[in-house]
Amino acid sequence: MSIEKTEQLYEGKAKKVYATNDDRYYIVSYKDDATAFDGLKKGTITGKGAINNRVTNKMMELLEKEGIPTHFVKELNDRETVVRKVKIVPLEVIVRNIAAGSFSKRFGVPEGTPLRCPTLEFCLKDDDLHDPMVNHYHILACGWATEEDLKTITDYTFRINAFMKDFFLKLNIELVDFKLEFGKTPDGKIVLADEISPDTCRFWDATTHEKLDKDRFRRDLGHVEEAYQEILRRLFGE
Ligand code: UDP
Repeated sequence: MSIEKTEQLYEGKAKKVYATNDDRYYIVSYKDDATAFDGLKKGTITGKGAINNRVTNKMMELLEKEGIPTHFVKELNDRETVVRKVKIVPLEVIVRNIAAGSFSKRFGVPEGTPLRCPTLEFCLKDDDLHDPMVNHYHILACGWATEEDLKTITDYTFRINAFMKDFFLKLNIELVDFKLEFGKTPDGKIVLADEISPDTCRFWDATTHEKLDKDRFRRDLGHVEEAYQEILRRLFGE
């Protein structure tokens, strides 16, 4: 049976999610829309949707091979992918290898400072509250995740970081930081969900330190489309 979209369930800032004719699966559709600073800055990055779809799926496939369960099922076309239906854990899981962005601002650590060990932050996924940082106790106390889920998420996250850091360095890219989201399958398993793309990772060229990610859009650095293309080129050789 071929999997087809039925009704649209949700439209986010960068993706739409559809129900399908098979209740085990959703279809995600990546958009070219870009937002930053809690949606205050809006724009379009031509070709972004198709690039993020391909980059995400490639990373999901590689991570599955590394033993990380993911929601990825099948790429349908340039912007659409079939994923397993999961309930998203309402946390943004942020990993950092090098200080940048909000970490630099909050802690006064200059951007580009290598961190002595990777760090992990949890933020509550809630736009109205501006995704506040939350700790382990907050998460358990409010029931956003269980102790066991947090352990699994933390274990997967550090394994994903170790793999990705190494993988991108071989493409002469420094993995500065990134954001992950996890979901729970109907049978209660934690799987990696959402996307892994230049929208959700900071990628710096390892030689020139040029930014190859969404910071080019956030900070009006120009050559935004070219940066996304460059990530695609390094990953797929195109
Ligand atoms: N990030 C994301 N979505 C968010 C917040 C952060 O994908 O809602 C990613 C961001 O692209 C970066 C990392 O998480 O790779 C760390 O972001 P940071 O906390 O420094 O926030 P920012 O400076 O982007 O506001």
